[in-house]
Amino acid sequence: MSETLENLLSEDRQFPPPADFAANANVTAAAYDEAAADRLAFWAKQAQRLDWFQEWDQVLDWSNPPFAKWFVGGTLNVAYNCLDRHLAAGNGDKVAIHWEGEPGDSRAITYADLHAEVCRAANTLTDLGVTAGDRVAIYLPMIPEAAVAMLACARIGATHSVVFGGFSKDALSGRIKDASAKVVITADGGFRRGNPSALKPTVDEAVAECPTIEKVLVVRRTGQDVDWTEGRDLWWHETVATASDKHEAQPFDAEHPLFILYTSGTTAKPKGILHTTGGYLTQASYTHHAVFDLKPETDVYWCTADIGWVTGHSYIVYGPLSNGATQVMYEGTPDTPHRGRFWEIVQKYGVTILYTAPTAIRTFAKWGDDIPAQFDLSSLRLLGSVGEPINPEAWMWYREHIGGGRTPVVDTWWQTETGAIMISPLPGVTACKPGSAMGPLPGIAADVVNDAGQIVGNGGGGYLVLNEPWPSMLRTIWGDDQRFIDTYWSRFAEHGYYFAGDGAKKDDDGALWLLGRVDDVMLVSGHNISTTEVESALVSHPAVAESAVVGATDPTTGQAVVAFVILKGNASASEAELKDHVAKTLGPICKPRQIQFVSELPKTRSGKIMRRLLKDIAEKRALGDVTTLQDAGVMQLIQQGMSTTS
Ligand code: ATP
Ligand code: MG
Repeated sequence: MSETLENLLSEDRQFPPPADFAANANVTAAAYDEAAADRLAFWAKQAQRLDWFQEWDQVLDWSNPPFAKWFVGGTLNVAYNCLDRHLAAGNGDKVAIHWEGEPGDSRAITYADLHAEVCRAANTLTDLGVTAGDRVAIYLPMIPEAAVAMLACARIGATHSVVFGGFSKDALSGRIKDASAKVVITADGGFRRGNPSALKPTVDEAVAECPTIEKVLVVRRTGQDVDWTEGRDLWWHETVATASDKHEAQPFDAEHPLFILYTSGTTAKPKGILHTTGGYLTQASYTHHAVFDLKPETDVYWCTADIGWVTGHSYIVYGPLSNGATQVMYEGTPDTPHRGRFWEIVQKYGVTILYTAPTAIRTFAKWGDDIPAQFDLSSLRLLGSVGEPINPEAWMWYREHIGGGRTPVVDTWWQTETGAIMISPLPGVTACKPGSAMGPLPGIAADVVNDAGQIVGNGGGGYLVLNEPWPSMLRTIWGDDQRFIDTYWSRFAEHGYYFAGDGAKKDDDGALWLLGRVDDVMLVSGHNISTTEVESALVSHPAVAESAVVGATDPTTGQAVVAFVILKGNASASEAELKDHVAKTLGPICKPRQIQFVSELPKTRSGKIMRRLLKDIAEKRALGDVTTLQDAGVMQLIQQGMSTTS
């Protein structure tokens, strides 16, 4: 990439926090000053949110960068912090999880219930020979046992590796092998789009290739028939359910490995991101408290992510439970049995804080405003977004149609690697601009640099970097320290910056705008143009629900903008009209060479647009790796559409 990104889109709208929200906010502007005065003292104070068996001697050991040690010498137990201490404080009868199954069954699980089940599961794992430091693979649907399994591992110091329940046999076996896992925890199946969807057959096939696996622990969820390997397979309801619910949580070192999580693989071979104990839990807990303004006595929090993604780890399991939250957990898809399912759940449980992804928001907008309007969403007081850049118009739609035009909307930037939120507004402090993640949280140092690693001024663009180590940072790539160094720390080694791989710009006020992956930036007639900004310009046209933009090789301009567009329900717009709209909004240089109308876009299982596949189509090449694609049929449809129009 030459020079820096152009600064194209401008946004003047601003939404300061409502006065009563600001007056009651958990965190005020003073946090920025406090952290700026002494960053390590700030994080040491946040670590006091947790119960430690043994306090640390040193907040950060950065003597061997990029290998960090946080809270050196401290010991704690993550499950104790998420469960036992809430019981000790008299909150055992409080609901931890309102679980909603896709077919409509539900369970209310108190902190005491969750504690007992985690203790039983911890005793069972110990009986199966799992000891501290062993790896356990978890391949489950969105059922409470997924959280139980993770916490049971944490309780005994086993390192969990959660694999998204929609992943294939190869993805599962690859991850099991990479971490040499000893046990797999799975289910017969889960409910997905109205039908039971089997998991156990995939596990059987995967485990056949994985000699390290000794036991397979199976939750019965759907009641489907399963093949059974005697001596290896065990039912959860015959083992965990009958185990003792007494279990004493042991202390583990602050740097004890808590989990491995493989990045979703939007771009390359998945990397086993390693997170450890004390720093991770400190930042997960603090950010959940600060960014979601969680009031554990009154809030009902709902994060719609799957537990297989880092968002599920940090903002369904560890952040909320360490903070004693009451939360909703939902098994299924947003359109089963109808397109108002999410809003029905918000209404049923009186959800106050909702955290979801731009892909979902754009889909809801496409389905129509009248669907959320049929439900009582007045309980909501805060909305969050994560996973991709959120187009300003999607942000506005979210605030207006879900947040009733009242709620703050926090756009949170972070990665599997960062473990917790890094860049986000504080909802009681920041005047938000639709589509901007605004700035780094207190205690976090993030900036935008040019090719040479120099920090750009306001109005400039380039690469997002993290300038200082942070408590929940990845410690390495499992088994591959060199890849860890090469991937994240070599690009700006001279400056000691972490290279996030995302493009970003600072607007004239210094607010940060995330522009998607560096690999997705287009170079048109010598100008760097971000796919995100052209997409946002398209989405700002009233007829457009969603779009994906790629740069295709072009004989005259080097690369040309090719856009794929999904129109809203009954709307219509011509190709020429949309091209002109982009030219007017961003400038003629950004005008797409071609616009292709499509009904779906290729997305990863976590809902991110896979632009590289669209680029293959735009450049008329064979498609690259499609294994992490949510629905392979989508590509065929798009290809057929392209061949009839070009
Ligand atoms: P892989 O690294 O394997 O290609 P991935 O990057 O999609 O997969 P994640 O760690 O889940 O896996 O996603 C982090 C990325 O998601 C960020 O680097 C960024 O590109 C994008 N992202 C997340 N949140 C935001 C946000 N609020 N705004 C813009 N982009 C975001
Ligand atoms: Mg990534």
